[in-house]
Amino acid sequence: MIRISHPRRRAAGTRTSRAHPMRPGPGRALCVLLGLLFVVGAACAEESAPWIVGSEHLRVLYWPQHDDLARLARETGEQTLTRLRRLLDVQPQERIDVHIVRSQAEFDRLTGSRGSTWIVGQALVGQGRVVVKPVGPQRLPGLLAHELTHVMLDLGMGAAGRNLPRWLHEGVAQYAAGEWARADAQIIAHAALGGELLALDELDPAFEGKQEQVSLAYAQSYTLVVYLSSLRPALGVAPLLDEIKQGQDVRTALARAYGKPVAQIERDWLDNIRTAYLVEALPLSSEVILGALFVLAFAVAVVFVRRRSRRIRRRMEEEERMRRLMGQVRLIGNEDDPPDGWPGAPVQ
Ligand SMILES: [Zn+2]
Repeated sequence: MIRISHPRRRAAGTRTSRAHPMRPGPGRALCVLLGLLFVVGAACAEESAPWIVGSEHLRVLYWPQHDDLARLARETGEQTLTRLRRLLDVQPQERIDVHIVRSQAEFDRLTGSRGSTWIVGQALVGQGRVVVKPVGPQRLPGLLAHELTHVMLDLGMGAAGRNLPRWLHEGVAQYAAGEWARADAQIIAHAALGGELLALDELDPAFEGKQEQVSLAYAQSYTLVVYLSSLRPALGVAPLLDEIKQGQDVRTALARAYGKPVAQIERDWLDNIRTAYLVEALPLSSEVILGALFVLAFAVAVVFVRRRSRRIRRRMEEEERMRRLMGQVRLIGNEDDPPDGWPGAPVQ
């Protein structure tokens, strides 16, 4: 069922329909003034409350300028929730609110953050709400899927939700949203080459670090969820979530869910990503490739020129030797006929 409402606009319309016809006389100016005040008041009221579009499991609150985005959010968000309800076996009791904000100030007010301009979305898991910035139709579905996964994961875990490590939350959210780019693989590859991959216990603290550490933490969290899912392909990370839900700490839950010591799981995972993404560090940028080709061509040219010079020098030396030889032969073979320039030579 789709419902569209706009409370403020509806209220203004109702009052307008009850407006009395304007009468001539002294009260006219006052009526005009009151009318103007009402119009201004109605316009302000329109600005003070968002519009709403809803679906069965979702309510999108937005501003009129983002009407298209709101409808896209409702459509793709509902699809995501259908998928997550099945994957995580969660049935939300209430509709989840998605706020599409129109300013950083509104984002900060709704999320309690302070001027984090680089953050484009946030899930308020305890409140069943998601706040996103109007990132555009290309990015919105993925962003929404990511944030809705946080909410659904939290709902599915109940009280144990607070025991979920950040890497598991973010890894599952990225996995559900299909967020994996070549840039992520390159981040892993460069960290692997530099011996800077994060260990399991270093993942969560890294989310609070500098931007490079945060990016690496996100990328590695994704690969860890993928790796764990590969250990039990039919179940993915469900056994791990179940163990945590039953009150196990994360390391114990990992060992119990996948039947291996945590140290072995960690070692195998790191070995896996060290080799799996190494190729991403190999391709060079076009500038580097062109530079390398230029240097190579220059080196080949130098070798070629030197060899040719050596050949020419040898040929000249050979000719010189032959000339001397021939001169001597001539000298020896024609004793009566002295060489040119010698005393007694014929004048031509
Ligand atoms: Zn997230």
